[in-house]
Amino acid sequence: MAATQAAGDRHQVVVIGSGFGGLFGTKALRRADVDVTMVARTTHHLFQPLLYQVATGILSEGEIAPPTREVLSSQANARVLLGEVTAVDLEARTVTHHVLGRENVTSYDSLIVAAGAGQSYFGNDQFAEYAPGMKSIDDALELRGRIFGAFEMAELGAARGDNVDHLLTFVVVGAGPTGVEMAGQIAELAHRTLRRDFRSINTRSARVVLVDAAPQVLPPFGAKLGAKAQKELEGLGVEVLLGAMVTDVDERGIEMKYKDGRVERINTVTKIWAAGVQASPLGRTLSEQSGAPLDRAGRISVNPDLTLPGHPEVFVVGDMINLDHLPGVAQVAIQGAKYAAKEIEGRLKGKPAQPPFKYRDKGSMAIISRFRAVAMVGKLRLTGVIAWLMWLAVHLVYITGFKNRVTAVLHWLISFLGRGRSERTTTEQQIFGRTALARLKRGATDLVSEPGAYDAARQMLETTRRAELESQALEEARLTDAGQRGLPAAERV
Ligand SMILES: Cc1cc2nc3c(=O)[nH]c(=O)nc-3n(C[C@H](O)[C@H](O)[C@H](O)COP(=O)(O)OP(=O)(O)OC[C@H]3O[C@@H](n4cnc5c(N)ncnc54)[C@H](O)[C@@H]3O)c2cc1C
Repeated sequence: MAATQAAGDRHQVVVIGSGFGGLFGTKALRRADVDVTMVARTTHHLFQPLLYQVATGILSEGEIAPPTREVLSSQANARVLLGEVTAVDLEARTVTHHVLGRENVTSYDSLIVAAGAGQSYFGNDQFAEYAPGMKSIDDALELRGRIFGAFEMAELGAARGDNVDHLLTFVVVGAGPTGVEMAGQIAELAHRTLRRDFRSINTRSARVVLVDAAPQVLPPFGAKLGAKAQKELEGLGVEVLLGAMVTDVDERGIEMKYKDGRVERINTVTKIWAAGVQASPLGRTLSEQSGAPLDRAGRISVNPDLTLPGHPEVFVVGDMINLDHLPGVAQVAIQGAKYAAKEIEGRLKGKPAQPPFKYRDKGSMAIISRFRAVAMVGKLRLTGVIAWLMWLAVHLVYITGFKNRVTAVLHWLISFLGRGRSERTTTEQQIFGRTALARLKRGATDLVSEPGAYDAARQMLETTRRAELESQALEEARLTDAGQRGLPAAERV
């Protein structure tokens, strides 16, 4: 074990994570009289909202994932350490992190935890093998390989005279912004980008299906925009199946059960999971030590000033927190991290505490295809080209790094004005790396599912999860329609 305590007598701030919370929190401390150590398990900052564009060949991974070390190179009081944080000791005020079997322990005076969330399969983790999620660069590249690979396999099969419908069927699970954007882009790929590239298949005959257990598309956008988005998707040729709970996923297909008990199977090799999130397991560690409860998605309840109960020196921000029904969006993480940084700096200067954290909803948007998007900013509801231009402007502002902005614009011009995609390269490593590694690591026993466990999980999914998902979606839509999104519980009706 090696201790990596930073040298010097200054106040030591440790930041866990290099995502929106981690990066913006660290940057907000640039003028503070502190040393900041950012510990993260990747060497890059990831702009997750554009992962689907990496998966569908519009952008390169480098454009949405600049090296954190480079981003922070001119911030003299910040250093970056690569490592997976495995433990936080709230009493000893230390963070333990590992990289390639090497353990490091870093001490802190103040801690900002911004470890985000991972994919949730609602207790059916075995689905992951056949329906990858989209949370990391690895995920997006794997999906790119699977999507473009499916067209290749279809071309080969069709040339032999085989039925290739299952290869030309793409199912996206989850009709939130990520699922909507993904389905829209696959439809554009099939109908525009690839239409002249194959000889034995007609890519325009590809079937793109968007599935959700909720009764509407884009619940956080409210009923009206949800309906509008659904119509736009259907106009693009996307089939939207609502009230459909996924009950099984295997190599060749996906099975769904509707509310009325009807079961439907779709034969498809390409399934994409964009349905649920589970907060970082670090939340559990923090919960066990502080007594702060976790919700079902593993999010930890924090004080109104984003600190842990009994630990004013520990702030938790972003996707990990359960506070006032705040959504899991980038702005919650950014604003929370800036608030925490300001509080840390203020305390050192002897300033009084800030009022409780208040999220300023700057709006939400989801792109459906080129020139089509939906957006809500305050009471304003926008669709079509205006919403799309707004989406373009906002994403350009928030992509990190000038170079990345320039190249992203270039690639958008190629994809949106032309019909090309600059980043169609796929490799076997991308397609098979994750599953091959999982097999190597855990051995053959992990490759067969336990029938009892599988049935129990499936039962749970059908009975409790459906009701929960539906009520969650309805509540989100209701809060949006009533203009009460992000308001503290006491102020909501
Ligand atoms: C596909 C997709 C599309 C999205 N689209 C939008 C959108 O359009 N608009 C929007 O506002 N939001 C969107 N979001 C949500 C938004 O990206 C998140 O709300 C935001 O990233 C949360 O910020 P965060 O700092 O809490 O977590 P993250 O940005 O996820 O950062 C977590 C960081 O912690 C690191 N980490 C995790 N565990 C550990 C550990 N144990 N040790 C060390 N490091 C660790 C990770 O590597 C990462 O650097 C999208 C999310 C996804 C996945």
